[in-house]
Order: sequence, then structure tokens, then C-alpha cells
Amino acid sequence: MIDKRLTEIDKEIKLYKNYQDCVLVAVSKFQPVEKIQQAYNAGHRHFGENYVQEMVQKYEQLPKDIHWHCIGALQTNKVKYIVPFVYLIHTLDRKSLCDEIQKQGKKHNRIIQCLIQVAISPEESKMGGCTFEEFKSLYEYALQQPNLKVLGLMGMASFTDDETVIRKEFQSLVKLYHQYPEFSILSMGMSSDYVIALQEGANMIRIGTKIFGERK
Ligand SMILES: *Cc1c(COP(=O)(O)O)cnc(C)c1O
Repeated sequence: MIDKRLTEIDKEIKLYKNYQDCVLVAVSKFQPVEKIQQAYNAGHRHFGENYVQEMVQKYEQLPKDIHWHCIGALQTNKVKYIVPFVYLIHTLDRKSLCDEIQKQGKKHNRIIQCLIQVAISPEESKMGGCTFEEFKSLYEYALQQPNLKVLGLMGMASFTDDETVIRKEFQSLVKLYHQYPEFSILSMGMSSDYVIALQEGANMIRIGTKIFGERK
């Protein structure tokens, strides 16, 4: 069932993008390792988790060629647990987090790939993400950290049925993304709004429920 859903979403991605151009991150938070293993067996390698402890436990139990994406609000004191193996942190949103990622990245001799999370909706601004006003100074700060590499942007649209609102919020992130030609990843779109995100130009989407079913 999971492999069928992955195939379905892959087909949809192809309507908007060449497959190579869009990465599907399967969001596995609160899902058991058995389900991740099923998706892995179907050939999937990109998984997203919100909670550090859960990600570390799953990392330890599952094949080591999985690309783990940190997509949840990240506490500075937990950075050290994921730096040894994390593939991409989507939620860089403040300078103190840059400092800690730099410190831990250096310690583990790794360059940590990150996206800057920008709050594009009122809900998101409560949970994390820098403001559009803070963005430039945060990015310039991140550029000074040799063990941290910003590859692009991440954003979450409002939880609403109003497509116009969602589209506008995604467009605000697309606009910022295009101001930085060095960026290569634009992470936006979840189960309820990924088609809109793809239409607007996302090249990384984060889907949980639509692949794994409801979370417990
Ligand atoms: C949980 C989560 C997702 C996936 O949500 P679904 O609605 O289950 O697809 C995507 N992005 C972030 C940041 C999340 O926290």
C-alpha cells in the first residue's frame, strides 16, 4: 500500500517536473519503523522527522543509506545528536542555531546542509521560521560558517481550504528563492497542498499522511 502511494505521488510530480528535479521527502514522524522499511524496500531513501530523539532511534534501527531530513523546530541543545548523520536540516531560523550547527559540524568534520525556514504564514511564525525582514542578515551570518551550507529555503503555508491564500504564501517564498541564484532547493508542500506547491515551483515536497496514513 505504501509503495502504491509513493508511485502515485511520483506520477503526480512528473506532471509538473522531470522526476530528477523534485525530491519527495516521506514524512515518517510517529510512524513505526516497519512502515519506513516498507517504503525503503520500495526504493525510497528520503525521510523526514520532526523530533530529534525519534529520528536518532530510527536512524539506529534502519539502513544507513537513508537520507534523514530534520523538518521540525530544532532546539539548540539537540543539534549534537543529529549532526553525525543528518542529510538536510530544513529548519534553520536563527543565528544561535547557526552557531551550534557550526560548532558540532566542525567537531564531526562534516559540512551540514541546511535550508533557511521562512515564516510565510501566521501559523508558521508561531512555530518557527525567520521573518522576511530577518532573512538577509541570517543568511549572511550562515555564509560565514564553514561547516554549514545553506542550499535553499523551506516554508509552510496556512492550514486553510482557501487555495488563493496558500498560493500567495508559496509565491512569497518563490520570489525570495529567485533572488539567490546559488540556491538549489525550495522545500514547500505537504499532503494537503503539494500540488499547489509543485505548480508554484517547489522542487522538494514533504508528505506524510498521504503516504503512511493518519499518524497516531
Ligand atoms: C508533519 C509535517 C509534514 C507532513 O505533513 P502531512 O500533512 O502529513 O503530509 C510536512 N512538513 C512539516 C514541517 C511537518 O511538520
